[in-house]
Formats: sequence, structure tokens, C-alpha cells
Amino acid sequence: MKQQGLKTLVATMIGLGPIFSYLTGMMQIHGTIAQDSLTRFAPSPTGWLHLGHVASSMFVWGVAGRCGAKVLLRSEDHDQSRSRREYEVGIFNDLAWLGLNHANATFNADQPADFRQSDATPRYLAAVEVLRKNFLVYGCDCSRQVIARDMPQRPDGGVAEELCYNGRCRSRGLALDQPGVGWRVEIPQQEQTFNDLLLGPQQQVPARQCGDLLLRDRHGQFTYNFAVVVDDLEHDVNLIIRGQDLTAATGRQLWLAAALGGPRRQMQYLHHPLIVDAQGQKLSKRFLSEGLAARRARGESPEQVLGLAAHLVGLQPRPSPIGATELPSLFQLETHV
Ligand SMILES: [Zn+2]
Repeated sequence: MKQQGLKTLVATMIGLGPIFSYLTGMMQIHGTIAQDSLTRFAPSPTGWLHLGHVASSMFVWGVAGRCGAKVLLRSEDHDQSRSRREYEVGIFNDLAWLGLNHANATFNADQPADFRQSDATPRYLAAVEVLRKNFLVYGCDCSRQVIARDMPQRPDGGVAEELCYNGRCRSRGLALDQPGVGWRVEIPQQEQTFNDLLLGPQQQVPARQCGDLLLRDRHGQFTYNFAVVVDDLEHDVNLIIRGQDLTAATGRQLWLAAALGGPRRQMQYLHHPLIVDAQGQKLSKRFLSEGLAARRARGESPEQVLGLAAHLVGLQPRPSPIGATELPSLFQLETHV
């Protein structure tokens, strides 16, 4: 009985991750992380580096530093309509200013990202061919409005968290090379499970969350879910650290990775709180999205920016300045091998 009470208390504390860190001064990571792990920081160059990115970077570099993992930088510019090279240069220069070092072999301001999704089209096309050997990949020209209209009404009249595609085009036989046609892969009704290093055990059924997965959209752009899985497999990334807004995408990415032959190493996931969630209050979008260059111009130091982001995301009780090399001290690992 006593043990049960303790378990409940621990479970409650785990659920209150950010608050738990206030009690111990550290955020507890539940699980083991191999020392030779590789994680990545993969911003989309669609704007300047801001506090949300900085908060995420602290989990990436902090946990990596704590367990001896390396960090790879990747530019996720799969959305070519919004990505700009000047943002990419700015983001990677800001990371260097913050003192966040990475494992990429080369770094210079003209060519900051060693890995850029817009350079990887042949790799994505090859991955589609791998999928076609074992799964149905078909053309789909449905708009978001059509998909939303096809969705069944919820009994409570509420709105679903995301669009779930019902397979409308599965048997239409649309040619994949036709303009205005996206590519989807049929996914089975299978449950995917994983143990999140912060959130604990997770179960997801992608076929019920999003339906057949979109690989390439109607405008010819490879999708985030597809590109990121192909890239992580290619780069042998085995530790995924990212915001909790992407927790729901993990099951479908696990299925896709397995369908493409599977990762060489055991994958591990950590989905961290976002600034707004951790704060429990809405900070202005302007405050959150302000670029680091503006903060730098006001005379803020890297330590001040890191300290503020650490506070806002629940990693420290006050916005005390903290240096990049001190970030690992914010995390407590159960054990590591
Ligand atoms: Zn369709």
C-alpha cells in the first residue's frame, strides 16, 4: 500500500516534469541513453532563431552533453516556398553565438548546414521506390477541405485534433507523375509503441490519427514526416529530442522507418514541453518570435538568453544566466550505458 502511494507520487511528479525540476533543480530523464548516440537539431529556415528554438536547443544540447551524445545540424528546408538561405545562415550563426557546438565536420557562414533537405531529393525518390516494393503508394489530389469534409462527425460535435485521410483516392489509379497529384502510402491498422524519455510509455495508431501518410504534397514538396524519417535513417540518428507538439507524429514515423528497412540502432525519443505549456500562460507571439539578433543588439549576452529560455521552459526556477557548457547540469539521467 505504501509502495503504491510512492508510485503514485512518483508518477505525479513525472507528469509534472517542469515542476519536478523545481524541486530537484534538474529534469529527470527516464531511461538509458547510449554514450555514442547521435541526436540532431533541425530547424526550418523559415524565420530567425527565437526563444522557442533556444528552449528546444537546451534539451538537445543539455541531454546530449549529459550522456556524451553528439549533435548534428540539419536544415529542414523541405518547404521551399517559405525557406530562405539567409535565415539558415542566421540560425546557425546564432547557435554559434550561444556556444552550442555540433558534430558536423565543416562550418562556415556561407554553407552553414552540412545537411539540407533541399539537397536530398534523389534520396527521397529512392526511398519512395523502396516503399513501393512492399506497400501501396498512390496518387491523391485531395485538398484539406475535401479531407475535412470526409471525416465523420464526432459524437460530441468537437473538432478532431488533426485531419485523418480516409483513403478516398486509394483505388482511383491517379498517375504519380501527373501535375497536382500528391503521393500517399497506405498504412496498416497497427499500434505503434515507444517509451518517451520524459513522458513514459506511448501508444499510437497512425491509421486512425492521420490515415494513409502523405509523402509528397500536391505541389511536389516532400512532407516533413517523410523527409525527417529518411534523413534520420541516412544519418544514423538514434536519439530524437523535439517539442511535445510532435509527440503525435512519432508513431507514424516509427512505422515509416520500419517500412524503409528500419534504423540500424534502437531509436529513443524525448518530447520536451514547449514554452507556452511550461509557463501555463500565453506569452505574446511577438515576444516569443523575436529573433536573437534583436536581443543581441540590446546587449543581452548568450548566457542571459539561455537562462531566460531555460526558465520559460521550466528548467530553472528563475531566469538566471547559464552558459552552454552548463546545460547538461540541468538534467538528471536515471543511468546511462
Ligand atoms: Zn485523395
